[in-house]
Amino acid sequence: MSTIIEPLRGVHDILPSQIALWQFLERTTREVFAAYGYEEFRVPIIEQTQLFKRSIGDFTDIVEKEMFSFIDRGEDHITLRPEATAGIARAVISNGLLRAGRLRLWCMGPMFRRERPQAGRFRQFHQIDAEAFGFEGPDIDAEMILLSARLLRRLGLTDVKLHVNSLGTPQSRAGYRERLIAYFSAYEADLDEDSRRRLHGNPLRILDSKHPTTQRIVAGAPHLGDSLDAESAAHFETLCGHLRAAGIEYHVDRRLVRGLDYYTRTVFEWITDSLGSQSTVCAGGRYDGLVGQLGGAATPGIGWAMGQERIVMLLEKIGRSAGADVPHVYFVASGERAERAAFQLAERLRDDWPGMRLLCNLGGGNFKAQFKRADKAGALYAIVLGDDELARGTAALKDLRGGQAQEECALERLSGRLGDLLGLKASNTG
Ligand code: ATP
Ligand code: MG
Repeated sequence: MSTIIEPLRGVHDILPSQIALWQFLERTTREVFAAYGYEEFRVPIIEQTQLFKRSIGDFTDIVEKEMFSFIDRGEDHITLRPEATAGIARAVISNGLLRAGRLRLWCMGPMFRRERPQAGRFRQFHQIDAEAFGFEGPDIDAEMILLSARLLRRLGLTDVKLHVNSLGTPQSRAGYRERLIAYFSAYEADLDEDSRRRLHGNPLRILDSKHPTTQRIVAGAPHLGDSLDAESAAHFETLCGHLRAAGIEYHVDRRLVRGLDYYTRTVFEWITDSLGSQSTVCAGGRYDGLVGQLGGAATPGIGWAMGQERIVMLLEKIGRSAGADVPHVYFVASGERAERAAFQLAERLRDDWPGMRLLCNLGGGNFKAQFKRADKAGALYAIVLGDDELARGTAALKDLRGGQAQEECALERLSGRLGDLLGLKASNTG
């Protein structure tokens, strides 16, 4: 006997029994993006390794240790995308889309990071991603946050808090960087290994460390807010004004920096207390330098990413159940001629009612066994066709959930009767 092949560490299957919540999340996402005029964009899962190195930056967890990279037959350096922003920025440049001036985009799909698997942290996970290009002012920052707030609200997730901060411009950050190096140097021996390595390369990264000892040292570090340039401060103030006007509660968190190098000015996170240490469900910010850094014409940008696994975990936690799409109809057929007729009739019903979910029994079995399957599938109605009914030109229609009596229905009236019972919309095309 051969051995069973296990899935890779940190990757998971999404089972049919779990899919309803995922579809609820994805459906709601589509609706909310449409409500703000954002267009869906689908970009590749593999890109040149160079893209992520150049955009996400050295001294980041992702580039230093989390990328799944390989050399394809000794030629191309390829990486499975760890996040969506870099690929979308690459795509708007390589497709010349920035000529249109302004873009509001979203995408959804799997991301890959080689990190230590734990609850809420996987090696293949999924993100919902929003990106906008060509908007200078703080109103897009507000729109992006309001959009994410609306999505969370529509999902029924209220136990999430918004943290916002401004990182200023790279120029205004330079002075802060020096002050940080001076501060952390005094504790160099106590810092964790990653942070020691980043001390002179990118000390801001240390603020984001999850190491307990380092976090205690970070608590006393100088604040970025004190070094903010006037324009960034005004930008941030306007954003906060928009949030207050929209009734969005927020917390200004001067320690909030984001894991990637490309952020400028606004950064924000939605945080929950319900998921242990994997507490961030959505994170984003402005990245005005990114498009230029990737060889495009200087174009401001902003975006956020939401972790779908963590959202689904929250939905499960609040007991949110999304109605699974049970079959409307289970087609029970017995007898050689009846089974053949049922197969054809089922196709005709699907022609008439594009929204009808119809399960054919297939493979025979006596009536009792077939009804058992119909029940297990959760079907609402059963059509019952035996050779006798077929000879009479009728079928029996049985209500499997409610208490309606079984009815005998002429085959040519069956489609109309089912459409009525199920309240379905007829096909326009026939
Ligand atoms: P963390 O600090 O938790 O590692 P991050 O800063 O690396 O997060 P981002 O790159 O901002 O995460 O990704 C946005 C969101 O995607 C996160 O807030 C989280 O909800 C989700 N996410 C990130 N990495 C993972 C992962 N390995 N497994 C599941 N979800 C993830
Ligand atoms: Mg991370």
